[in-house]
Amino acid sequence: MGAKMFSNDDLLQSLLAAATPLSDHVTHEHFSAQLLAEGILLIEPQQAGDTDIVLSCGIHGNETAPIELCNKLLQQIFTGELQPKQRLLFIFGNPTAMRQATRFVVENLNRLFCGSHQQGEQNLERQRAAELEQALVTFFNDASRQRIHWDLHTAIRSSKHEKFAVCPYQPQRGYQRQTLAPLAAAGIEAFLFNHAPAFTFSYHSSHTFGADAFTVELGKVAPFGDNDLSRLSALEQVLRALIEQQPLAADNNTLAQAKFYQVKRVITRDETEFSFTFPDDTANFTAFTAGDAIAKNGNKTVFCDVTGEAVVFPNAKVAIGQRAALCVVSVALNDVCM
Ligand SMILES: [Zn+2]
Repeated sequence: MGAKMFSNDDLLQSLLAAATPLSDHVTHEHFSAQLLAEGILLIEPQQAGDTDIVLSCGIHGNETAPIELCNKLLQQIFTGELQPKQRLLFIFGNPTAMRQATRFVVENLNRLFCGSHQQGEQNLERQRAAELEQALVTFFNDASRQRIHWDLHTAIRSSKHEKFAVCPYQPQRGYQRQTLAPLAAAGIEAFLFNHAPAFTFSYHSSHTFGADAFTVELGKVAPFGDNDLSRLSALEQVLRALIEQQPLAADNNTLAQAKFYQVKRVITRDETEFSFTFPDDTANFTAFTAGDAIAKNGNKTVFCDVTGEAVVFPNAKVAIGQRAALCVVSVALNDVCM
């Protein structure tokens, strides 16, 4: 084992303590580790496979389970228990928000990618979005290599599907079963295909670098230390296999059992008076019947068009003109995948 990067080889504890690293570059027996910026760690094995893998967490600072999981994988890499065989970029997205145990400090970091951080007044999240984009430019330095980015989150509300992936809009490339299969093996029960570009971190990686990128929602928010990481054991196994370049159990059956949804329309808050007809704690993917009232937008009522239409990420408190919910419909795997 080589020199230490942190006094206790624990990136998360160092971040939460805002501790200065002992070194920003260390060499171990089989790999080197380089801190590109706060909470952004590049791992390069001496002999790397053909895939560059980004694992990001904490883009929302209070979504702790994936933060703890990424930290656990990193610790296993530093102790030699896990031997990286691919180039890896671990990203702890918003360290200041993590220290404050809050989703964000000034504004939602996951709406600021694809350069949109440049518009408007600068703040902590806008500067961080620029720093994260720069880290991806540094990391994705060879277009001939395969690129993967899983941006790991937990949701504010409960969900009919505890774990689901949001698939960025990529009409030119489309989606392939082999790209989705590892997520299904990791316990992802549902896939939501976006209908339009979005300034999220995963859309940025997909659009700018052609990465197989996903926003991965992994259950409900809990404080640090209150997470049961055994609920993420399937994900942990898949990530370990990706990191060690082990073959994944080919599992098209698991993928076939997943649910697939396409965004059908967006409910936008147009009026000051805006409310949903359902309670705040209604789970994501709750379905409605044709003719049901879904929302009140000023004196207009938004009705369910087609039975089975379901609501995802409802938030009545967004600014006027912003997205208040996605309406999705169930589709077949063949409709969304090659
Ligand atoms: Zn999140």
